[in-house]
Amino acid sequence: MQIYIDGNFYPKEEAKVSVFDHGFLYGDGVFEGIRGYSGRIFRLGEHLDRLYDSAKTIDLKIPITKEEMTAAIIETCKRNNLKDAYIRPIVSRGVGDLGLDPRKCSKACVVIMAVEWGAMYGDLYEKGLKAITVSVRRNPAEALPPNVKSLNYLNNILAKIEANCKGGDEAIFFDTNGYVSEGSGDNIFVVKNGVIITPPTLNNLRGITRMVAIEIANSLGFSVVERNMGYYDLYCADEVFVTGTAAEVAPITWIDGRDIGTGKPGPVTRQCMEQFKNVVQKEGTQIV
Ligand code: PMP
Repeated sequence: MQIYIDGNFYPKEEAKVSVFDHGFLYGDGVFEGIRGYSGRIFRLGEHLDRLYDSAKTIDLKIPITKEEMTAAIIETCKRNNLKDAYIRPIVSRGVGDLGLDPRKCSKACVVIMAVEWGAMYGDLYEKGLKAITVSVRRNPAEALPPNVKSLNYLNNILAKIEANCKGGDEAIFFDTNGYVSEGSGDNIFVVKNGVIITPPTLNNLRGITRMVAIEIANSLGFSVVERNMGYYDLYCADEVFVTGTAAEVAPITWIDGRDIGTGKPGPVTRQCMEQFKNVVQKEGTQIV
């Protein structure tokens, strides 16, 4: 496995960054999660736009252009001989001292990892996932804009720990107003009486798969409404599904001890899952 660090490639064992990097010390940095399918990278431009916007928000200067980043990502996939890949570009603040001040970090550090990747949830795409609504609230936008995909994922990890403890496969966050926000690593959709509902993106990450799912749902003739929801909407849904680069489109069939709908992946979710598989094969930036 070859890993890109600041313009060079290193074997996995030699791919190292300093313990003085503020990404390690403080979670000071940004990242993306991107998928490649059959030799094409899905929605690369959108992921890079989000990466550079995340960096801009935290006043982090990425030392290479989007074009250079694109070339580096393609080269990383090529060197690792990947066709179906999960790609992780990371930009950290770089080496500084033990203080917080980012001005002490003279240059950001760029790392790109890419690994072979299949279906994240295995047989749960057929069976459906169990989800737990967790007591940990999503970081409010006033504290850390959720669209900044920062290296500080502790909020999400706490949600995941709570879901793990309570026997769930995924956590569902509420925001600080008590509205449904998102999963620990994915966006959430509810299907009720043939209409698809998803929370607005004020208090969750504006997922790229979320946008793809909305496009797919519309193309299948479903209307998608963005509105706030409470736990009532989750428990009384006909279907619930989540979307994310890693999770893809995945059915939730059980929440907090209640079966959702029939307790099996529903027809709307199945159609979206099926169409998602087609869409990811049809477009993307060629790796060759
Ligand atoms: N929310 C969170 C918290 C995430 O980490 C992710 C994964 N990037 C998503 C939603 C889904 O976003 P995307 O579809 O762009 O992967």
